[in-house]
Amino acid sequence: MCKEEKLCKQCGSRVAYYGDFCADCREENDRQEILQMSEQELAVKIDYVCANIQQLENQDNEEIEYLCKMLINYRNINTSRLAELAWEHNLLYHNTIYKDAPPHVVEAMLNRLRQEDLHPWDASKLLLCLAEAGGSAVHQAFWELQQHPRSWSKQFSSTPAVYATEGGWSFDSQGRWAPTNFAECYPLVKGTAAEKAESPVKIALLAGEGEICEHCGAPLMNLIEIDGRDSRLAFLGLEGVVRAKCCLNCVIYTLDDNFCRYQLDGSSQPLPFKAYNDESNISAKEFAAMVANTYILGPGPVAPRYAADYYRGSSIGGVAFWWQGCEIRTCPDCGKPMMYLAQIQLDTIWDSMDGNVYIEICRDCQLLVFLYQQD
Ligand SMILES: [Zn+2]
Ligand SMILES: [Zn+2]
Ligand SMILES: [Zn+2]
Repeated sequence: MCKEEKLCKQCGSRVAYYGDFCADCREENDRQEILQMSEQELAVKIDYVCANIQQLENQDNEEIEYLCKMLINYRNINTSRLAELAWEHNLLYHNTIYKDAPPHVVEAMLNRLRQEDLHPWDASKLLLCLAEAGGSAVHQAFWELQQHPRSWSKQFSSTPAVYATEGGWSFDSQGRWAPTNFAECYPLVKGTAAEKAESPVKIALLAGEGEICEHCGAPLMNLIEIDGRDSRLAFLGLEGVVRAKCCLNCVIYTLDDNFCRYQLDGSSQPLPFKAYNDESNISAKEFAAMVANTYILGPGPVAPRYAADYYRGSSIGGVAFWWQGCEIRTCPDCGKPMMYLAQIQLDTIWDSMDGNVYIEICRDCQLLVFLYQQD
């Protein structure tokens, strides 16, 4: 550390880049402040963003962008006025601002999207903003574009159905609309061992005595256990107990997708996959520390994007924080897009292990898939 660098007043361990505070403590303080704001105080903040909307894409001054993100992620503010102003100024880098875009703004955006001579870069930004806005007009336009690609969209590696997942929805090969995110979100918070025993959501449990992976020999885990009968979890539409059983080592170190078939009585079976390793990289000590975690379901719902940012922890429902971009699998049984169900931030249960494991679900086929992403 250089001599001039001072330490954060709050945590005392990280460098204070923002006045007296480090980036983490500053964000935590601001988050608490935003969470506690009254509706009136929020309205003042929204007015402030509106008055300074052109700063949104000013790379030398991230204040408005930062404030916008906090207001949307933690309070899920209505963004219709922001979307209108952002569109007026042709600001298209912040997709989530368009989540409540009014119909006339969506229509104007779609008209631009339909132009044949659109620059692919602009088209890509437009698709992401429109995916956030969603709604039937956008769904129709995306489906039409998927069937009749424009000259610019032929250069894309992703289809409109994949762009749509960034906004929490998609469509199948027949064009039928399907949600890919649940509308509600709950964080997993630290509790006690006794509270964990009672919690309707538990993470990283040993699956059972002697249940080991046939490829690497690691103990199988129920990476998440969900009792959907708890009233807080009604939004999941799971009328029973779902155990997401997997080999965590193979989820992380195998390139092939790991699926699991579940029944609502709590039984579950990992499906075969192509393994790339015959030895586990996870030590017995690491397993022991992981299964000793005491995370429990948070007491109340939070905003859908609450956990859609760096290091916001594990969560169920809502929007994930994707380290490498949103990845929604197609159900191998029915061909419909799966739904993002939960994310486990690994370093909260496994010392200094990077990345998140994401769990997706097809409720019709009672199938789960595990995906892993890291920085
Ligand atoms: Zn700090
Ligand atoms: Zn394994
Ligand atoms: Zn399915």
